[in-house]
Amino acid sequence: MNQIHLSANQFVIEASAAESIAESLNLPSVLHLLPHLVHSAQALARPPISNFNVGAVGLGSDGRVFVGVNLEFPGLPLHHSVHAEQFLLTNLAVHRCRRLLSFAVSSAPCGHCRQFLQELRHSSSVQILVIDEENCAQNIDHVENRKPLSKFLPNPFGPHDLLDHECPLLLDQHDNRLDLLPPNTVNSVNLSNGNDENFSKLANGNCGKYEKSEDLLRESALEAANNAHAPYSGCPSGVALMDSEGNVYKGSYTESAAYNPSLGPVQAALIAYVASGGGGYESIVAAALVEKEGAKVRQEDTARLVLKAVSPKCDFRVFYCHSG
Ligand SMILES: [Zn+2]
Repeated sequence: MNQIHLSANQFVIEASAAESIAESLNLPSVLHLLPHLVHSAQALARPPISNFNVGAVGLGSDGRVFVGVNLEFPGLPLHHSVHAEQFLLTNLAVHRCRRLLSFAVSSAPCGHCRQFLQELRHSSSVQILVIDEENCAQNIDHVENRKPLSKFLPNPFGPHDLLDHECPLLLDQHDNRLDLLPPNTVNSVNLSNGNDENFSKLANGNCGKYEKSEDLLRESALEAANNAHAPYSGCPSGVALMDSEGNVYKGSYTESAAYNPSLGPVQAALIAYVASGGGGYESIVAAALVEKEGAKVRQEDTARLVLKAVSPKCDFRVFYCHSG
């Protein structure tokens, strides 16, 4: 099978570019291109614990192609890991693609991911193609081997068991109508023991709207919280990360009907960081979390734990919000 090389920041391929690549390989459609990208996607994974690279390459309803990979974090319990399919869906969400039609993946989706995929509105019809070594060796052009998610997870438990039909699902537009509480109720925490300088040093000259990088981070985390998918707990949250060059990466908390496969807001923001071509996590120097004060499901302690493991010198602020 022809394999296309993906660069470190090529986690999204525009529709016209994907069509050109498919044409250049004499493939009948972009759908047929997906399996050809899986091997290159695997090379972008970051699994320092398992050394088991997973790559997933999906086709959105707008013709764009999205890449997902697995991320593992040494020093943390395994349930903080990100699976390639979770990365893929978060990548679509970040880029406002509202529907995943099909994806090719280097290993059969695990039970956790089959469950996480239930959060999609048309989950049962998402077509999945597993590119195992045997398929590769035989150079099968696979597409007819795709199977819908309903074959991978029959009799699913999902949003339809718990939510009204009208409730927005994972890739649907969300607006949680959150407003920040007044500044005197802000809980300002600092991972790096009073090293307040990271924020002031990063004063973002590129963004005249914000006086300080802290304002930019807080507003970005609020935006992420407003886009969060948290219909089961009613406790949306969002994280914004800033790197040493002042670039901001937003991550929205994403719940699963089965609770445990839920994806935390720090992980979602780390996905945005990796998908933008970010290098080592130690380049992340500041972070902000927005969540509801007194929420039943709180992210603050876990967010601090994860950030400390991936970038120990990162500043971390928490801002509380309420439903507006
Ligand atoms: Zn998985």
